[in-house]
Amino acid sequence: MLALAGYPLGMRFRFLDPSPEAPVGRIAPRVTGDYSDRGALEKFAHGLEVVTYEFENVPVDAAHFLAKKVAVLPPPVALETAQDRLREKQLFDKLGIATTQYAALDSAYDLEAAVKKIGMPVVVKTRRMGYDGKGQWVLRTAEEVKVAKENLPKVPCIVEKFVAFRRELSVLAVRGRGGETALYPLVENHHRSGILRLSLAPAPEIAPEIRKEAEEAAGKVLEALSYVGVLAIEFFECEGHLLANEMAPRVHNSGHWTIEGAVTSQFENHLRAIQGLPLGATTPIGASAMINLIGEVPESKQVLAVPSAHLHLYGKEPRAGRKLGHVTLRAPSFENLVSRFGSLPGFFQRPEFCLNGNRA
Ligand code: AMP
Repeated sequence: MLALAGYPLGMRFRFLDPSPEAPVGRIAPRVTGDYSDRGALEKFAHGLEVVTYEFENVPVDAAHFLAKKVAVLPPPVALETAQDRLREKQLFDKLGIATTQYAALDSAYDLEAAVKKIGMPVVVKTRRMGYDGKGQWVLRTAEEVKVAKENLPKVPCIVEKFVAFRRELSVLAVRGRGGETALYPLVENHHRSGILRLSLAPAPEIAPEIRKEAEEAAGKVLEALSYVGVLAIEFFECEGHLLANEMAPRVHNSGHWTIEGAVTSQFENHLRAIQGLPLGATTPIGASAMINLIGEVPESKQVLAVPSAHLHLYGKEPRAGRKLGHVTLRAPSFENLVSRFGSLPGFFQRPEFCLNGNRA
């Protein structure tokens, strides 16, 4: 999606991916190699003007290695912070951004003490390599704590208070090389089994204080990290306030709606930012719903028969839990979007795509 946004601007791309099957190979030159393979990194970086990443588990060592040869943006420190849930939370704390209550858990032996400190229910998360709900365990009873103590992987974790949130929101912000910033409107996100299923943009019924909290949080993180590019921060809306859950130093799934739903897409703005070009307007065009296609895809012709539905297939092999594509439905207003939603084919009439799911 980055390449597709950059080609009309005359940009050229080379991609690095460990998998020989990475679908990007169909649209851009690709170096296949492990992120730790110095030879592959050299070959990839040769002659490039700027390197960016769209996967936050790229090893920080690879980013530092590349940064000796070519500009790497967003700065590797952002990658380093986002890869470790404890560091991420500590950054939020330092910047005065409210988070869920948490405690570091270096060893499962300390689980009971951490749970006692925070109070049940809790979510235990591995500090590293967790995404889409992977590496997470919700514990609601003493029995579950006991079982978890035996079975948790022997890696550093954090224990978080399980938040009974009203809904999940995210903010997408972009900062250019000269420090200029732009923000997209807040997005409402619906997850199931830890995976994003549906985003509504702009999020309906956003109180001015909530918008202010999100925008201030984004501004602080961008500034603190001397950030360049698109940054996403995910929040829980809870009792009229926001609690920051995590950040993603990259274009984000909850920003895919911007391809059709905003004047400038997150992908184009990311590319503009890292190349020192003027940022584009982040204004939404009406209201959008972005539906992730996970594990299976509907028949293309069913989707294409729906006026203002836009289909994006990523060309990946279907696998349970895998994001295979998305559909964006656009309408002039949120009310209109809700009524258009009802006309989507049966594939989309599932509870996880229910527009009022988290808000009812
Ligand atoms: P994460 O990988 O931290 O983004 O978590 C994935 C999803 O799990 C989130 O989008 C929430 O739906 C849920 N989740 C994560 N942490 C918590 C929490 N502390 N309380 C309630 N739900 C959570």
